[in-house]
Amino acid sequence: MLNPWSLLAFQSIAHIGFLWLIITGSPREWLVVVIVYFFNGCIGMTATYHRLLSHRSWKAPKTIEYLGVLCATIGLTGSAISWVAIHRKHHRFTDNKEDPHSPHFKGFFYCQWLSMFEKVDVRYVPDLIRNHFYNFQHRHYLTINIAWALVVFLLDQRAIIYAWLAPACTLWNAGSFVVTFSHMFGSAPHHLKNHAKNSFILGYLVWGEGWHNNHHFSPKSSKFSEHWWQLDIGYWYIATVTFITGLNKRIINNFLYKP
Ligand SMILES: [Zn+2]
Ligand SMILES: [Zn+2]
Repeated sequence: MLNPWSLLAFQSIAHIGFLWLIITGSPREWLVVVIVYFFNGCIGMTATYHRLLSHRSWKAPKTIEYLGVLCATIGLTGSAISWVAIHRKHHRFTDNKEDPHSPHFKGFFYCQWLSMFEKVDVRYVPDLIRNHFYNFQHRHYLTINIAWALVVFLLDQRAIIYAWLAPACTLWNAGSFVVTFSHMFGSAPHHLKNHAKNSFILGYLVWGEGWHNNHHFSPKSSKFSEHWWQLDIGYWYIATVTFITGLNKRIINNFLYKP
């Protein structure tokens, strides 16, 4: 079972790994950090945990969905069941007392570091609770991470740092910055009853997640950007997957179609 203390311990080690890499890392290793951050953050966190599972704003074949979940798993930000439950509750009670991570009620430190201790209310995730894969991922979350660590260790001992811990630390902070700063600073083109803001810097650094005011305005949209200059790489991934799976279906249908 995923215990918040274990997650905190793993993330603390990930932060030490990140600092160690700042001192000793080579450009090649930092390039791998960025690539793994694309997998755990863009494919895993924003496209899969957030836009697909939390909001059902796009559809993907199950293999793509589950691969996305595995990418998110190695980011050490919690299981799909806990992440989605907390996020759906955030949308339900945005910026009021029951919001699990409103910086206006819980403060910066809590939102940045301790939101993993929020009690997971499974009433928010009846769809995931029914699914064996999500129960398995929740129960064996850390084991999957250790398996990943072993695989990369066998390729290169230092890969534990640059292909697992440092990208996980990056994702943790990127996600936490969105949670806190996107409800504090930035522009609000849509007038909402909460403090959600668009943040240019987080939009560019966190795969489109920073267009948070747009997202709270239309949470059912898989596209968070509204202007050409609002970089939304998470949506580019979704558009590419949708295009390829649609194309695949058309090819298969044409092949099978016999008048
Ligand atoms: Zn929000
Ligand atoms: Zn959301």
